[in-house]
Amino acid sequence: MEVHVDRGRCAGSGLCMSYVPAVFDQSEDDGKVLLKAARPEPGTAAAVRGAAARCPAGAITLSGGDAHGR
Ligand code: SF4
Repeated sequence: MEVHVDRGRCAGSGLCMSYVPAVFDQSEDDGKVLLKAARPEPGTAAAVRGAAARCPAGAITLSGGDAHGR
């Protein structure tokens, strides 16, 4: 899985970092998402999918093998 974040769309809700802190972080400068791991560990795939599905801004997109679950 590859994770992409659109910081231009991010609303700074903080939801994704509370879901998967190993993958998402929040900028101290503008409060928006920072990507910590563009290719996260396979064990986090379900949580990353959950965060992407719940992002209120639609700012997280996924690609690659396990992007859509099985
Ligand atoms: S869940 Fe979406 S809007 Fe909220 S901080 Fe993460 S990327 Fe930004």
